[in-house]
Amino acid sequence: MRSHRFAEAAPARCAFEYVYLARPDATINGRSVYEARVEMGRQLAREEQHSADIVIPVPESGTPAAVGYAEASGLPFAQGFIKNSYVGRTFIQPSQTLRQLGIRLKLNVMDHVVAGKKVVVVDDSIVRGNTQKAIVGMLKEAGAAEVHVKISSPPIKWPCFYGIDFATRAELIANGATMDEIAAAVGADSLAYISEEGMIAATGQPRSTLCTACFTGEYPIELPPEDRRGKMLLEQPRLPGMPYQRPQTGCEPGPDSEFELDETEPPLREEVPVR
Ligand code: SF4
Repeated sequence: MRSHRFAEAAPARCAFEYVYLARPDATINGRSVYEARVEMGRQLAREEQHSADIVIPVPESGTPAAVGYAEASGLPFAQGFIKNSYVGRTFIQPSQTLRQLGIRLKLNVMDHVVAGKKVVVVDDSIVRGNTQKAIVGMLKEAGAAEVHVKISSPPIKWPCFYGIDFATRAELIANGATMDEIAAAVGADSLAYISEEGMIAATGQPRSTLCTACFTGEYPIELPPEDRRGKMLLEQPRLPGMPYQRPQTGCEPGPDSEFELDETEPPLREEVPVR
């Protein structure tokens, strides 16, 4: 038996696993995800201190970072939201309406905890801004005097082509907007993100071994041409010049069937939607 190395390994592990995707009780490449998230919160507090009365998390993915933020800032930690465990992740719901409805169903604000207080609310990330807009709205409706949003990852400005459903650049709230514009869009009194260096340091991984493309736009693998990207690629009509392949439906007639396959090529559509 012979073995040949055809390329040098160049790991590019997903940094977003440490921020949000992985379970907090997971350990990735020797680093506890929970510890990484707590450290991101501490680092966020070191970078962006704010005078406030309490620190609350957006449960549950924002909880470890809020613990770290409270620890490093000296502000008291409180539970401002109670999570309904029977509603799934809202950012992967297929439509804006479903996502916004899902957030209100998912979280219930504790009025007596936040009323009249200056609140620091810690979340792991902002994708489209739906969650934060609903959260700030709920806190203000409950009587919070001020709401300061702290995010334990850098701004997400680029889509992920490696399996995470961030949709298009146009839908990402941080794409092309300033901090003040994002804060105004979500209705917050202030907004702060952790720095890229701070997040990476909290993962305990060398920068060169991480993918941070959704934050930086630096993709570790060259992307295909624009018209060959996107999650709906297989649903798109055939592109000019590509051979016709009859879709497999699972209901093809068997060898003894009286029905025949229609192998006629469907006409090419003139416009191919690019996502
Ligand atoms: S772009 Fe990279 S870091 Fe961002 S979610 Fe995708 S794999 Fe993870």
